[in-house]
Amino acid sequence: MPYMPVERPSLALGLLQSILENNGISVATSYANILWCEKIGILRYEFAEKAPRMFGEWTFAQAAFPEFKPDSLRYYAEILVEYPGRSLGIKPTDLPTILADWRRKACDFIDEIAFQIVDEGPLVVGCSSSFSAHVPSLAVLKRIRDLEPGIVTMLGGANCDSEMGLTTHEKFPWIDYVVSGEADDIVVDLVNGILEEGRNLGLERVPEGVIAPIHRAAGYSGLRDNPPRAVSTSFSTNPLPNYDDYFSALKAAPVQAEIVQPGLPIEGSRGCWWGEQRHCTFCSFNGASRKYRAKTSARIIDEIEALNNRYGIDWFGFSDSIVNMKWFQDLFPVLGKQTQPFRISCEVTPIVGKKHLGLMREAGVTYLQPGIESLDTEILGLLNKATKSWQNIRFLKWGSYYGIYLSWWLLDHVPASDNGWYIRTAKLCPSLCHLQPPRKLSEILLLRFSAYHLHAETYKFDLEAHDSYSMVYPLTQDELNNLAYYFQDRTRAQRWSEPAGEAESPAERKALVDAMVQWNELFDSTTRPVLETHDTGVEIHVRDTRPCAEKESFTLLGEARDVYLACEDGIEEERLYRLFGERGMAAAGIDLIVESLLHSKVLLSLDKHFLSLGIPQPSTEPPLSPQYPCGATNKFLYAAINRVRESPVAW
Ligand code: SF4
Repeated sequence: MPYMPVERPSLALGLLQSILENNGISVATSYANILWCEKIGILRYEFAEKAPRMFGEWTFAQAAFPEFKPDSLRYYAEILVEYPGRSLGIKPTDLPTILADWRRKACDFIDEIAFQIVDEGPLVVGCSSSFSAHVPSLAVLKRIRDLEPGIVTMLGGANCDSEMGLTTHEKFPWIDYVVSGEADDIVVDLVNGILEEGRNLGLERVPEGVIAPIHRAAGYSGLRDNPPRAVSTSFSTNPLPNYDDYFSALKAAPVQAEIVQPGLPIEGSRGCWWGEQRHCTFCSFNGASRKYRAKTSARIIDEIEALNNRYGIDWFGFSDSIVNMKWFQDLFPVLGKQTQPFRISCEVTPIVGKKHLGLMREAGVTYLQPGIESLDTEILGLLNKATKSWQNIRFLKWGSYYGIYLSWWLLDHVPASDNGWYIRTAKLCPSLCHLQPPRKLSEILLLRFSAYHLHAETYKFDLEAHDSYSMVYPLTQDELNNLAYYFQDRTRAQRWSEPAGEAESPAERKALVDAMVQWNELFDSTTRPVLETHDTGVEIHVRDTRPCAEKESFTLLGEARDVYLACEDGIEEERLYRLFGERGMAAAGIDLIVESLLHSKVLLSLDKHFLSLGIPQPSTEPPLSPQYPCGATNKFLYAAINRVRESPVAW
């Protein structure tokens, strides 16, 4: 359903389709997101996909809840005027008309999709709901119930996890079954039960993790304190996902067939090996889902090859939350030797160093989302992250060396932080302007299942559902609190697009924002600064065009060269002194070299570690505007197509 990305098939639906088909159940997947995108155009679609404040859900709320008339003027005035006006080139005065039209068209669209689905004659219809797909899913299932009451309806996905799923089931009676958690192991039993016994399964046939009509009839007795949740144990032997229906839908969509370069999701593991030990405070992984389960590397390679053969696509995006460290032994080295070159994206902990990034690049990894979050060790500690500042900077250095695009940003307003980190980070920025910059300073979100939600009292939060939920759902505040994924602190009225802390820390925060802007501008300019090192084996020639450079070029000889090289991958300060002491160098001599390197800003001293900052040559320059291997859209082509059409796609 909208507003799921159109550049890739749904891993969840592809997997469930395969599992059901392998068990003799006939399945078709409808990609309503592609159909809706074709109607409203990729610019508006992607805007709604990424917009804050439940905008995507709000566009379908009228279709789901026609009787519910929230104060739209408040929504426009308080929430949206600045945001879409800037992004979509809409004049604020035109906004009410355009958005009202958007919502009316969404009602027509839901009608159209519901008719199409009912015409196919299915016995069971289910939607996968994550991100902003919840209200569109509720809308289409409701319309299907109106049109053909005999069809059994189902809803699953991240928005149905635990309490959210229970509330969805309780408040929206046209949903027969809600699956909370992972459906892989239970979907066959559930669907077979319904096919054999009809809508109202007896309790003995309702799998663990499923909320059923029988629970509704019993007033959800026994579920409220501990909502059910399914966790797959057979995940690693799941079949290959079936993405056929995605490619059929894409082919049938004239504009997207031209502008979408699809990528294929691939799943190597579920859960998080780091989160099992220490849950990053902002992470919304739900308890049991943090449990780490991984496929073998041989299995992953087979899947990549099979999907590549079947769909002729060599772009892949790992859905994993974190790269498995074992892959550096038996996955990336094998992929690196393949004759067929792949383009791969994944999420990785920045604890990995040069060797790891090199293996990834050889395997075809061109795009990484590292869990950097901050360059300040104090903040990283507050976030429960695995790394310290020096390791995050080392990651940026080697990522840039291998030309891997790094998508990263800094988190702002970390609970329990003071303003000192703004200044500490701002001071670092000028030395790092030859490395890939953080693209934004992002307000930390208060998400369900994060430590801020689970232990709100510890963080002195008084949480309630974010106020935008009240513009979307006809529910009481308590019900919204049970349904919501995004929260706000009553005492601070947190805003997504306008950080509440802005006024609280103007000078320090502004210093960091200014430093980040300068870093981004320098890096994106045609004269991107460099800090390059050319090692001849006898001496290192340094070329430094950063604005903070002491000299544009100089040479490191003898012991200075040796010390610099010893710090290439980061080294404990004590170890460096020990190492060179054992070679007969006096501490005072090492001091002199270190001081000189620090003065030239080619060496950093952080967290009792030294890290040299130059990019050894030859290196590969990171791209300015990379293509995301898990699917991309070509906006230039879209604009060209719109220009030659008599009536543009976007209304
Ligand atoms: S933020 Fe990433 S590393 Fe941290 S617990 Fe969540 S998934 Fe794991």
